[in-house]
Amino acid sequence: MSANQELIINGQRVHVPTDLEWDDIVRTGRWSGEVAFLDSSKPRILDALQFVRTYREIFSLGLFKAGPWAKEWTLSVLFKQGGAERQVHIERVRCKNCGVTHTIANPAIADFFLASQNKQEALKQAFDESLVRCHKCGARLPRPAIWARLTIE
Ligand SMILES: [Zn+2]
Repeated sequence: MSANQELIINGQRVHVPTDLEWDDIVRTGRWSGEVAFLDSSKPRILDALQFVRTYREIFSLGLFKAGPWAKEWTLSVLFKQGGAERQVHIERVRCKNCGVTHTIANPAIADFFLASQNKQEALKQAFDESLVRCHKCGARLPRPAIWARLTIE
């Protein structure tokens, strides 16, 4: 990506800085003149960046304002599916059936849909689309997932 992108996701304007811009954000803690993250969050940002760069074809890291009152930026992991980006939460879950651990992308988080026209329907749809199952035994994972990989411990 050579230029940063601006996307509308669930009614929310999301900026996707380039790799170089992210390096700058990590160094300064700021984006577009405002606080992108606090020092205490830096390890979390570095983890998220490393994750999206490992899977850069499908994941990216964006920034948005969580409402018109928000001064600071909120970080968001984005998952590309069918040419569109959606917000996901990266989580670790253990399969209750066989015990293996997965890293998953969970799209069914109520906070993602605060700016959606129909919050309940959007959240329900995200749940319904989260069909990825345990890679080892095929059981349903304990959390909604639209992407999963076995976690190497
Ligand atoms: Zn399993």
